[in-house]
Amino acid sequence: MRPDLIDRYSAPVPHYTSYPTAPHFHAGITPQVYASWLADLKEDATISLYLHIPYCDRLCWFCGCHTKHTLRYEPVVQYLEALRAEIDWVADQLDGRGVVTAIHLNGGSPTMLSVVDMARLKARLSARFTISSTAEISIEIDPNDLGEDRFDAMAAFGLTRASVGVQDFDPKVQQTINRLQSFEQT
Ligand code: SF4
Repeated sequence: MRPDLIDRYSAPVPHYTSYPTAPHFHAGITPQVYASWLADLKEDATISLYLHIPYCDRLCWFCGCHTKHTLRYEPVVQYLEALRAEIDWVADQLDGRGVVTAIHLNGGSPTMLSVVDMARLKARLSARFTISSTAEISIEIDPNDLGEDRFDAMAAFGLTRASVGVQDFDPKVQQTINRLQSFEQT
């Protein structure tokens, strides 16, 4: 037992998967402020890109992520248009500076993306940024979404690391939290 760790982590903290964390965003962080930060990056800056896919085809009752339930794919398609515009805007501000050494896809459920959309997204990133050949490319996986075609799509995306959330394998707990995910699927 480490009392120093208990002291350090026994208080409410921001959601750790977001960086900068939510409390750092406020009305004072305007597009102009964001653009000025990007403009300050040096030629050899290392860059991490985070892509958020805020949709799930099933909602787990415990979830605190910024996501929305949908059984239709149209909202995802519309969102991807906005995401591609954001990619272009950020790339325009960087104007060729920086090297991407990490890409992380989270959500929501990024594994909801169709095979075609995953390929399009990677193509857009590759066209607009310099991506290091050793970049860590990671994704949050919902095993319920996956078939062989999506595994192939993730491999083509260049995935180097995957995260699979497991709350409990007890079927009763899974039913209660609406996270049905068998041991075999995981
Ligand atoms: S799959 Fe993940 S993001 Fe979606 S509701 Fe469950 S915990 Fe939240």
